[in-house]
Amino acid sequence: MNNLINADLHCHSVVSDGTLTPEAVAARAATNGVQLWALTDHDEIGGQKRAAAAAKAHGMRYLTGTEISVTFIGHTVHIVGLGFDPLNADLVEGLRQTRGGRGQRAMEMSDGLAKVGIKNAYDGALKFVGNPELISRTHFARFLVETGVCKETNEVFRKFLTEGKPGFVPHRWASLREAVTWITGAGGMAVIAHPARYKFTPNEEFALFTEFKALGGGGVEVVTGSHTPAEYVVYADMAREFGLAASRGSDFHSPDESHTELGTLPPLPGNLTPVWELLASRIQ
Ligand code: AMP
Ligand code: MN
Ligand code: MN
Ligand code: MN
Repeated sequence: MNNLINADLHCHSVVSDGTLTPEAVAARAATNGVQLWALTDHDEIGGQKRAAAAAKAHGMRYLTGTEISVTFIGHTVHIVGLGFDPLNADLVEGLRQTRGGRGQRAMEMSDGLAKVGIKNAYDGALKFVGNPELISRTHFARFLVETGVCKETNEVFRKFLTEGKPGFVPHRWASLREAVTWITGAGGMAVIAHPARYKFTPNEEFALFTEFKALGGGGVEVVTGSHTPAEYVVYADMAREFGLAASRGSDFHSPDESHTELGTLPPLPGNLTPVWELLASRIQ
């Protein structure tokens, strides 16, 4: 398989903070011409069996996937895992622990929002939750759009859910070492998700890539819905500099929100090793 295949290796379903079922995401990916797909719900692999079966039904190849929340030098970083064994006990337990703090965090977020006059946000967010263990900021954002506090989810994040804003609660996620080790220990590849999204200084970003590589990380997202075309070039260079394979994924969450559509991004730049080349034996 080459760089040009239509691979979409990053997206979400109702098992985390997407709005479609795994089957509906699969159908949409297939309609858009995706040939190799991975469903990468946050901190959760409960949708993998359904996703793999749906991929097969639509004639798409499949890689198991997840997106693990990590705290690295005080910043939240996302690490995508691809091609792991979903029955691996350490991975299953690690993800369970990572999900563990979300309930308490959500109640504290709700308290913060109540202080600026937004009542019952916890219950409001819960109405949008598909998986009770996976209440996320996205569900609060949908509630604030529904109630007319904001026009769209982006605006909610900007005004209420990011650092320093009333609904933001600092949280400690998994360590980089844990996330990479859970994924690689289960036979998969760890991939740095949307690196341009993090507010790192150049030195901090260098530290992330260096430590990730040293821990056994294998890839970085180059073409993602979170990057501009200029950033594709920046992270293609980073992939080559650090000897990492390159990944491609939309980060699709919902047809109704302004995220990138499944399977519609440009192909990976040439001169990069696609993650799917190294994961060939893990493709279903
Ligand atoms: P959480 O894991 O609960 O902290 O929620 C993180 C999720 O919020 C991400 O995976 C995105 O889906 C969503 N998100 C983060 N920032 C934004 C933003 N500026 N606009 C819309 N959604 C966002
Ligand atoms: Mn998300
Ligand atoms: Mn992410
Ligand atoms: Mn994502």
